[in-house]
Amino acid sequence: MAELRGGIDLGGTKIQAGIVDPGGEVVGEARHPTPTEGGPEDVAAAMATALREAAEDAGVEPDALIGIGVGSPGDADEKTGAVSSARNLPGWEGSFPLAENLQEALGTEVKIGNDVQVATEAEFELGAGKEFESLIGVFWGTGVGGGLVLAGKPWLGRGAAGEIGHVVVKRGGAKCPCGREGCLEAYAGRKAMEAEARSRHEDGEKTDLLKLMEKHDKPRLTSGIWERALDHEDKLAEELIERAVEALGTGIASAINLLDVEAVILGGGLGIRFGERLMEPLTQEMEKHLFVNERPPAVRVASLGDLGGAIGASLLVSR
Ligand SMILES: [Zn+2]
Repeated sequence: MAELRGGIDLGGTKIQAGIVDPGGEVVGEARHPTPTEGGPEDVAAAMATALREAAEDAGVEPDALIGIGVGSPGDADEKTGAVSSARNLPGWEGSFPLAENLQEALGTEVKIGNDVQVATEAEFELGAGKEFESLIGVFWGTGVGGGLVLAGKPWLGRGAAGEIGHVVVKRGGAKCPCGREGCLEAYAGRKAMEAEARSRHEDGEKTDLLKLMEKHDKPRLTSGIWERALDHEDKLAEELIERAVEALGTGIASAINLLDVEAVILGGGLGIRFGERLMEPLTQEMEKHLFVNERPPAVRVASLGDLGGAIGASLLVSR
């Protein structure tokens, strides 16, 4: 039997597990909601369950896998396998030995990496970035995350590289969920966009965004709700999306000026939904700020979709 690896993408709302063959194909998968209560032990237990189900789907025992990789939010330490400050997960402010815990539960080696970085590496190895040597992954969703591959190798810096969401696009600008001012994420993150829409609505600006959210029974302004509002030519939605695209263009161009990578891979919930639709305004915004603007980088929408995180996590195993 071919050597199979496991991958787990640990997200704030869902846990996606996959069993991946040597060619990068997913041969088994399972998905569980992320626990909203309890602590790291409960999250780890749900991750182990998801992986066992994915293994069953693939017809393999977890301990027969050559290893399992985990893409985690928060501060994920590849060397020790510990995860700390995963603030969108329940009770996870401190440090928790996630690799050790899962290793015991699943009977094979477990490696931990940053969720956005491993998704970037998956696109580099198997997805929209396959033809390039150097690229930046920009994951436009609830927040704005980033990952880097330079000259064929992941670049982690001292562990915190790639945080393009917190590149400053306006000094003294809007308040970012990170507590600082003027970050890209303060304009383009779904969470920040929703806060701005709600506050403008309270101030009396007309918008159907919140009505659409209630009508479709969503707890928040999802990427699908933003898309519907754009289709209805909702003025506030158009203005806030335009503002997000300006911020993305500015932030990404600044990163390109520094690194001169060949390509930008645009992923994340909003990135995948709007990537093609907003490609032209986005590249126009970028070009305004590119120092060498006659040679812009390729901009591609991520192609591995929802499973990219789990596939990328599985690649940690052979590292
Ligand atoms: Zn920030």
